[in-house]
Amino acid sequence: MDKQSEAASVEPRALHFDAIVVDGHCDTLGDVLEGKRTLAERSTLGHVDLPRLREGGVTAQIFACFTPIHEYHRGATRYGLHMVDALHQALAAHPDELLLAGGAEEIRRAKAEGKIAAILGLEGAEPLGDSLATLRSFYRLGVRVLGLTWNFRNAVADGVMEGSHALGLSPFGVQVVEECNRLGILLDASHLAPAGLEDLLRISQQPIIASHSNARALCDHARNLTDAQIEAIASRGGLVGVTFVDAFLHQPASEATIEHALDHIDYLLRVAGPEHVMLGSDFDGATMPQGLEDATRYPALTAGMAARGHSAAVIRGVLGQNFLRVFEQVAG
Ligand SMILES: [Zn+2]
Repeated sequence: MDKQSEAASVEPRALHFDAIVVDGHCDTLGDVLEGKRTLAERSTLGHVDLPRLREGGVTAQIFACFTPIHEYHRGATRYGLHMVDALHQALAAHPDELLLAGGAEEIRRAKAEGKIAAILGLEGAEPLGDSLATLRSFYRLGVRVLGLTWNFRNAVADGVMEGSHALGLSPFGVQVVEECNRLGILLDASHLAPAGLEDLLRISQQPIIASHSNARALCDHARNLTDAQIEAIASRGGLVGVTFVDAFLHQPASEATIEHALDHIDYLLRVAGPEHVMLGSDFDGATMPQGLEDATRYPALTAGMAARGHSAAVIRGVLGQNFLRVFEQVAG
């Protein structure tokens, strides 16, 4: 079948709602913890809540726990625990709508039961302090994804905004990577400085993800990945998550649209390969482009991929099948 007729056979909406759809990054728990809104009720604020995830056909969402710098004086571990508690409270209040995913099985079960699977992630290792015991405790609370840094230096590594002198993993950072491999925590390289990414790819015995980073070749931003970095992540079995952050899609950011997100998907499919691309919206953590205003918009992305001639198998891979494969390998 040629590309054209194969594309014509894909009915995008049916494909989308049949597929396992996973989003690799949102910052919604911050709003929930601050009491601005709840996960369960549809809000006019922000981008993600359970009704909008359902409308968008999302099966699983990685909920990031990000510690704002102004919380450090009260303790990043304390804040991280409060974030985790905010999700657990929602899980307890809405067991018919939401389940916690400790591995791939819960994502499949969520799809079968019409629920949404929540995957807990830390964005930045700040809540760990300098302790592997803290890491193990967060694992027991359900954390299955660890972004090593946010933009700046912590006990594990340097973030990408530390600039050209940024260092790689610290000795403690190496221990964290080894312990995550042992426990079954998926390591996330978004925000990590280039030296840290090199170290991580060398040390980790498991594939890694960059949950919300685009292609530097299309949009020259420090948070985006070079072709060499994309190829290195993919060649070790990992994934790059296309993010909708307007400034990482296109410059000027104010002119970014869903078409730019589709351009990054096309580019990553070519450079990383179709089995190494995922989605990582960064909803509730950034400004969104025209056409991807909130979590209800995922079907438009599927329609866009189909319109560009991608096969159903490739689209399913990007939407969630690729993540499911890697998550099952790492977390079980
Ligand atoms: Zn981020």
